[in-house]
Amino acid sequence: MRLGMVIDMRRCFGCRACVAACKTENMVQPGNYWNFVLEYEQGKYPNVRRIFVPMNCMHCQDPPCMKACPEKAISKNKQGVVLINYDKCKGRKYCIAACPYGVIHFIGNEKTFYPDGKKTPYEALPARARHPLHRKKPGIAEKCTFCWHRIEKALKEGKTPGSDYDSSPACIKVCPANARYFGDLDDPNSEVSRLIATKRAIQLKKEFGTKPQVYYIV
Ligand code: SF4
Ligand code: SF4
Repeated sequence: MRLGMVIDMRRCFGCRACVAACKTENMVQPGNYWNFVLEYEQGKYPNVRRIFVPMNCMHCQDPPCMKACPEKAISKNKQGVVLINYDKCKGRKYCIAACPYGVIHFIGNEKTFYPDGKKTPYEALPARARHPLHRKKPGIAEKCTFCWHRIEKALKEGKTPGSDYDSSPACIKVCPANARYFGDLDDPNSEVSRLIATKRAIQLKKEFGTKPQVYYIV
């Protein structure tokens, strides 16, 4: 199994429901984004159109972030998901410099996520009560995990990743335009494989040799 994502840019209209879902699901601190939407204009007045490009970690098959980390804190699991080990990360930021997609963020020293100084319910939880990928702390790097905490659970329950809301990353099924898809790239019958085969799916910055596992239909 090799997990991947397909984003249909022809359908995305920039509502950012995926951004909000990701932030909430993964308790991403203010100022950081595991998922964001780039926006630009194409054409010349009056024939212009706005293009939206949702961006999260590409879970590269050959990830430069992993090679760059001197602490060996970044690894790729059996399902092709690139993950940061928060216990090993020393916040040296080599990964941030090496990633061609700008999708890794550094967690600063904010003591709390709320400006009023009160703790969120998440912050109030002891670290051991959270999934290891939600045990973030100041001074380390963070990025999209393909919501591995959800996928891991789905696999244990014998479910197919991407088949329903609970077995998909949080950003997938919330999209009101059905612009986001998730599944097994190694399975030729999966929705993602069929979309890649039948539509004009591209990978971003292929020239870097990173072999991204996120595809865009343009
Ligand atoms: Fe690493 Fe960036 Fe590739 Fe994600 S997109 S695997 S952070 S190099
Ligand atoms: Fe965020 Fe999960 Fe979507 Fe990655 S897969 S962008 S972590 S919601």
